[in-house]
Amino acid sequence: MSDNKLERIKCLIIGSGPAGYTAAIYASRADLKPIMYTGMEPGGQLTTTTEVDNFPGYPEGIDGPTMMMQLQKQAERFGTEVRIGMVTEVEFSKEVGGIHKACIDNSTWVEAETVIISTGATAKYLGLPSEQRLRGGGVSACAVCDGFFYKNQEVAIVGGGDTAAEEATYLANICSKVTMLVRKDEMRASKAMQHRVTNTKNIDLRYNSQVDEVLGEQVVEGLRILNNVTGEKEEINITGLFIAIGHKPNTEVFKGQLDMHEDGYLITQGKSTKTNLPGVFASGDVQDKEYRQAVTAAGTGCMAALDAERYLAAIESKEEVSA
Ligand code: NDP
Repeated sequence: MSDNKLERIKCLIIGSGPAGYTAAIYASRADLKPIMYTGMEPGGQLTTTTEVDNFPGYPEGIDGPTMMMQLQKQAERFGTEVRIGMVTEVEFSKEVGGIHKACIDNSTWVEAETVIISTGATAKYLGLPSEQRLRGGGVSACAVCDGFFYKNQEVAIVGGGDTAAEEATYLANICSKVTMLVRKDEMRASKAMQHRVTNTKNIDLRYNSQVDEVLGEQVVEGLRILNNVTGEKEEINITGLFIAIGHKPNTEVFKGQLDMHEDGYLITQGKSTKTNLPGVFASGDVQDKEYRQAVTAAGTGCMAALDAERYLAAIESKEEVSA
């Protein structure tokens, strides 16, 4: 690491979803002069959503990208500096009051007294070679982003959770037919979402079914489905395949430095946002595999900024700080 470009700040926020922006609003109002690095997907997962109907304060709903732009403006109004860039390496201090270092885009290092991690989670894929080859050629993990391209066509969706159920009904409004593959003999989605699926005429719901192969060279032309009870295989014609089987937290860069659960979600202490390292806090989906809502992410973003502010105040007043 070269020292010639070091910048020392009070608060570094990594990630720009509802958690990151809410942390930024609170941290900038507390005069921590936060700098946010947006990551690869500025605005986070909500920028791939059309309508957000369940965030309090928007009685008519709001589209995801607009909401994220408003959050950014609100954070900037109080002095947050939003920079486009990826944190590619970190060297976190283990000491109370220590300085944490983060490398941006493999080139510039930033030093920070506190770090708020809000890097979110990313969609999972099945991992089949045919699926990977056809990503961007008809295989997608975001129905609301890409569903439009399959207007009046036949598509399939994989998954049995709330996301799959929600996306299947969304697609059913656009596409002529949606084949939904659930690998077990039941869905994990809430009963209300299951009812929406079963009450939608053009969703062909298939249990005990999984993708055997995505067919097509350059673009998706069909799907070979395996019934994992009978062993039977069947080919159907589709032009789009949507994968909705959950998410993976974006924590790769913190491996070996921060405590994580087996599946990669960051561990926070009690009901706080404190990680195992003093001055490093985590908020949003990166530490929450259970609720994962914009409003809960925003709530924990607020908590992280308050935790960071109190941590710094305690150091300043030379109080005992528990790591
Ligand atoms: P979930 O983890 O809840 O569900 C994942 C689904 O994908 C499960 O049906 C799982 O099957 C299936 N799956 C996983 N891996 C594979 C695989 N390799 N092949 C085939 N199927 C697979 O993820 P979601 O994204 O659906 O939801 C995440 C969280 O967000 C949940 O808590 C959910 O309630 C919440 N949510 C809430 C919404 C709302 O309230 N409007 C909307 C969307 C999400 P199996 O059951 O067999 O493991």
